[in-house]
Amino acid sequence: MSQTKILLGTNNRKKGMELSELLFPFGIGVCTLSDFADKPEVIEDGVTFIENARKKAIEHARFFGMITIGEDSGLSVDAIGGEPGIYSARFAANADNLNATDEANNKLLLERLTLVPLENRTAFYTCAAAVSDSSGKIVGEAEQYCYGRILFELIGKGGFGYDPLFEIVEYHKTFGSLCPAVKKTISHRARTMRKLIPIIISLVNLK
Ligand code: IMP
Repeated sequence: MSQTKILLGTNNRKKGMELSELLFPFGIGVCTLSDFADKPEVIEDGVTFIENARKKAIEHARFFGMITIGEDSGLSVDAIGGEPGIYSARFAANADNLNATDEANNKLLLERLTLVPLENRTAFYTCAAAVSDSSGKIVGEAEQYCYGRILFELIGKGGFGYDPLFEIVEYHKTFGSLCPAVKKTISHRARTMRKLIPIIISLVNLK
């Protein structure tokens, strides 16, 4: 039997691999935008994670004619009113430099939290994801979180983005220093994708 492939609307191959591992037992394969040269540029102008996720799912599904998952994620820090939130990737961007690096984003976050004591440095990651059928109709969505706090310095070289600053209190370790298998199990993305598995399976079986 040939394997059905669905599309994860991201260029990030690592995210694609993680979803592949979850869907492999059900005979469902995953490709990402990095597998295609020709792809639409989706403008992330939603004001919530789920709006951006829906937009990515719909526009990529229409373009590729595939069952598509759109996802959007980011970090919210309580002491600064939930920033950077949906702007997590571009937190340190400005008119002179539109492409904020992880390093610049982490540096700015530490600066913004300089006077905030450890007990008030609570934060959480959000991952919102929407599933579209191959015509661009949303058939399901989920949003899950992963809670922690922002340390005073970077610890660990694993993960990406804000991971070296984001401590999971129960493990006394940052996502940058935790074993990747643990992040793959407890992360906001893993939790969201696990919620979507039944929806994806029933959609694939309808085909
Ligand atoms: P995107 O959903 O891949 O566009 O991620 C948006 C931004 O949120 C990333 O560029 C990171 O700055 C941040 N982010 C989202 N998920 C994670 C994570 O698991 N670890 C670290 N940073 C993350």
